[in-house]
Amino acid sequence: MIVDVSNKVVVITGASKGIGSELARTFAKENSKVVINYNHSEEKAHQLFNEISEFNENCMLIKADITNPSDVSNMYHEVVSKYGSVDILINNAGVCDDNLIQMMSLEQWKRVIDINLTGCFLCSREFSKIMIKQKFGKIINIASLKGQEGCVGQVNYTASKAGLISFTKSLAKELGRYNIAVNAICPGFIVTDLNRHNEKKKVVAQERSLLAIDNSLGDLIKYILFISSDNISSISGQVFNLDSRAK
Ligand code: NAP
Repeated sequence: MIVDVSNKVVVITGASKGIGSELARTFAKENSKVVINYNHSEEKAHQLFNEISEFNENCMLIKADITNPSDVSNMYHEVVSKYGSVDILINNAGVCDDNLIQMMSLEQWKRVIDINLTGCFLCSREFSKIMIKQKFGKIINIASLKGQEGCVGQVNYTASKAGLISFTKSLAKELGRYNIAVNAICPGFIVTDLNRHNEKKKVVAQERSLLAIDNSLGDLIKYILFISSDNISSISGQVFNLDSRAK
């Protein structure tokens, strides 16, 4: 089976590093028109943009804080004026800022909810405008298994991801009439800057895995590519768990 996403316009939030950067690379290799969004990691984002531009000239780099409505609106207008359409929005940007609840500041709580949940709301609100006009679009929200299971020291992160799952189901109901599919993906543990410092979580994830092989990043990227393609046309409002852990 051929998975074809060539010429699709795909906006990836938080693509300067980690999962987002790998998504950008892969979609670009498949000849999509990729929009790399970043906020703080200027150097990494430029490196990625230069790397992709070597083999795909249809790539955009946009600095935008997804918690800032005017940044998101500017990003939207830049993309639409260049490409005229948006096929896929991947709400990937996310952070964690862990603490036990008695030590968690209101700022820690708000920052994580703002980026992981409000940012997704703002981007979806903006980019669904053109998808509604097109009567086509796919919105993929990167949630987390932890949004279903909970985790000590992560009430902010897990609440944001649980919120994102519910957001996905509601938005899918709202936008289905315009042929816009909205789904959530819940990865397990993938080593990135988000968790690199946390050896304990890595060991726990390995211990709970039912399979010896760990290709979770590669599998996640392939899965997202597949559901982004026209091969999949009637799945929406769903939550996909991509992991092999024993409960
Ligand atoms: P990462 O390597 O730390 O990357 C996070 C990305 O989010 C960065 O590119 C960062 O960009 C961007 N970002 C943060 N705040 C932003 C903002 N205000 N505006 C725009 N971009 C912003 O993390 P990752 O592991 O790739 O995580 C990607 C997504 O997967 C997250 O939603 C995360 O919750 C989810 N996830 C990850 C795992 C895992 O094990 N890694 C598991 C489940 C779910 P700048 O640095 O440029 O600001």
